[in-house]
Amino acid sequence: MSSRVYVNQDVVVRFAPSPNGWLHLGHAYAAITAYDYARERDGKFLLRIEDIDLGRSRPEFVEAIVTDLRWLGLDWDGEVIFQSQRLANYAEAAARLKEMGVLYPCFCTRSSLQAVQQSKGLRLGPDGPLYPRICSHLDKREAAERATKEPHCWRLDVEQALELTGELTWHDDLRGEQVADPAILGDVIIIPKDNPVSYHLAVTVDDARDRISHVVRGQDLFASTHIHRVLQALLELPVPQYVHHPVLVDETGAKLSKSRESASLTLLREGGEDAYMLSSRLRKNIFPVGITLSKA
Ligand code: GLU
Repeated sequence: MSSRVYVNQDVVVRFAPSPNGWLHLGHAYAAITAYDYARERDGKFLLRIEDIDLGRSRPEFVEAIVTDLRWLGLDWDGEVIFQSQRLANYAEAAARLKEMGVLYPCFCTRSSLQAVQQSKGLRLGPDGPLYPRICSHLDKREAAERATKEPHCWRLDVEQALELTGELTWHDDLRGEQVADPAILGDVIIIPKDNPVSYHLAVTVDDARDRISHVVRGQDLFASTHIHRVLQALLELPVPQYVHHPVLVDETGAKLSKSRESASLTLLREGGEDAYMLSSRLRKNIFPVGITLSKA
């Protein structure tokens, strides 16, 4: 399967926050890094709100994202993009994947998987235990029948997908050529049980739709790119270049979290912090005590 690769065209970069909490210094660092990457190359910078988690997305967080980014001195090209307005696109992509036979319904619940984890243990991936492919072994007809009446999600059959695509590569600006290895994350969820689409499918479809040339984002999403590359090949989408930058971590080495109030941009803004000074310090990699950059 072939996918087009962007060459010698205009640079288009996006910042794609999920509005399920207040932005913190880690987001400010990521937004500025993506923004500068675009602007230093006379490129476009887009703001895309990834509001597909219907239970957790809230309008006040969207408002705060826009205000915080403007406060930091960032501007974007065109209107703010909302993933919640593009659900039909994702449904169409999901239907294509189903037709290709690379998705399967999964009836496992969080508690049934926890029980497996406790009795047998599950292989750990970068984002937690990997799905042990239980439902991939179900008889197809029986699974289709169960899917008409039982709650389920749809998972990517990574083995099957790779059989169709063959070996794939992608390029990371900092780490060079990568051979796609989606097994690192395993049979990820493509259509969740209680949401219209997963992050993996929505982001892949949108990066193509928005003609993103360079995906500039934190290295915590490096492993996800292996999955995105496979989805691009299956859906015959162009392949952007990737730049996975280090992320801000606390004293324990953990990524800053949305609940860490001390680093919330809204609190800093409302507390009278000077945004110009703050963004200059972030650009020079100067961070508050206890916060550093993750190792590459
Ligand atoms: N929405 C994701 C997040 O807030 C980022 C998506 C991306 O940059 O690919 O972590």
